[in-house]
Amino acid sequence: MGLVHIKRKYLIVIIVLTILCITVPGLYGLFWVGRDGLYQPDRDLTQYEIDVNFNPYSKRVDCKQRVEYTNKEETDLWALYFHVYPNAFKYAEKSVFPKEEMDRAYPNGFSPGFLELNKVLLEGNPVTYSFDGYSDDILMIPLEKPLKPGDRREIYLEYSLVMPNSPGRFGYSDNTYNLGNWYPIICVYDERGWSLEPYHSLGDPFYSDVSNYCVRIIAPSEFVIAATGEEVKVVEGDGEKIWEFKGHMVRDFAWVASNKFQRSSAVVGDTTIYSYYYTQDRGNKALEFGASALEIFNELFGTYPYKNLSIVQTDFFIGGMEYPRLMMIDGSLYDGEQDEWLELVTVHELAHQWWYGLVGNDEVHDSWLDEGLTEYSTILYYGRRYGREEAEHKYQIYINKGKFQLFRIYRDGGDTNETIHRPLYEFKDWLEYDSLVYGKGAIMFHELRQEMGDETFFKVLREYFENNKYRNAKPKDLYKACQEVSGKSWEDFFLQWLYDDYEEKAG
Ligand SMILES: [Zn+2]
Repeated sequence: MGLVHIKRKYLIVIIVLTILCITVPGLYGLFWVGRDGLYQPDRDLTQYEIDVNFNPYSKRVDCKQRVEYTNKEETDLWALYFHVYPNAFKYAEKSVFPKEEMDRAYPNGFSPGFLELNKVLLEGNPVTYSFDGYSDDILMIPLEKPLKPGDRREIYLEYSLVMPNSPGRFGYSDNTYNLGNWYPIICVYDERGWSLEPYHSLGDPFYSDVSNYCVRIIAPSEFVIAATGEEVKVVEGDGEKIWEFKGHMVRDFAWVASNKFQRSSAVVGDTTIYSYYYTQDRGNKALEFGASALEIFNELFGTYPYKNLSIVQTDFFIGGMEYPRLMMIDGSLYDGEQDEWLELVTVHELAHQWWYGLVGNDEVHDSWLDEGLTEYSTILYYGRRYGREEAEHKYQIYINKGKFQLFRIYRDGGDTNETIHRPLYEFKDWLEYDSLVYGKGAIMFHELRQEMGDETFFKVLREYFENNKYRNAKPKDLYKACQEVSGKSWEDFFLQWLYDDYEEKAG
């Protein structure tokens, strides 16, 4: 085949595609010009296909997982890395929970959780692999030949999960089986190279790329499953059900199983919001809070693009936890006496659907970016729903006095380093992390709003969302949105808030 012939052929293809893209707008998405050049978003996203056999009575979960990974970097890759978060639950002395929380994390005594890896295939062939990291929580698969930019590899994994008896992100208790961060997930490759951070005990130590998921779960028929993604079908078999979920363009996949779940739903815009609950009378209350927040955030930040979203009552002792299109909410908040907290936690996790779910970030190094903005978003919700006075009241009791000033009083005479922007492992404890990242972080956004004025501030949030959805944002992306909307730089404003000694350093 001659070179001229190939060129002519390409030319014809390009002309035909250009005509089609102009005349058929939907096709434009197939050849979408992303910020990293011309690529097909669907094909280039990592594809996960996981077949799960859920055995609640033996507390084991057997999985077969196929991953298709495309090198989207500009450099050759010589190995592939996966986080294997379940292994972080293996050793009591290396626990993912701080010491002071161990009794609540393991009410029946320490119970190990881990992943037993039985098979690894690379392009269908057995391959040597190794575990590394603080708790054997990083799986490394070396590649014989480098993976060139744009090239793809298929990895197949067979493994069994042993679930700990623990009401946390990964574990089971009396009412629910929680499967957050449960499967080997490919690590992020960014400007620092592979991000191989362990499962730190503070914050939400996660960082992932948007991917596509298809997950099939075989479970005993008395169980109901809430999961990230759309329920494509549920097939009833002999004493069991097969649940199939598809999650398109999400950065993680979580699920919760219970034989006590009931479900109610509401429709907000194009999204159906579900409430899964085992405490009868408060399931609808959580739904009401969630539906109201979804409506408000759709208007303030930009429309939530997914078809459904689930608020899930779980055995969970630390408030709530966000996953794409699914929130785990502490079941004890549904007792009828804590509606105020149920509202706060539900709205907080819902705001994370924008700040973490859609606009992602490195939650180990830049945790304030999603957490500070999410915390401040709850105040925006109170303002829209109940008025300015109520928002000011909540701002004072939850954020300013409740978190930040309290911290100053508590730490009086002790370490008063108030730097917000530092990696998770540089915070001493939850009090410091909560007060600075959630508390002072939210105060920073409140001050930004005061200085910019409402109109500019809300335009900035919409611009930041629109330009960074389905990506991982960096602090500079937020500064950029501020500058583009307002016409001036706000970087100094942020740096003064983020670093305790910024002014000293700036001299
Ligand atoms: Zn949060």
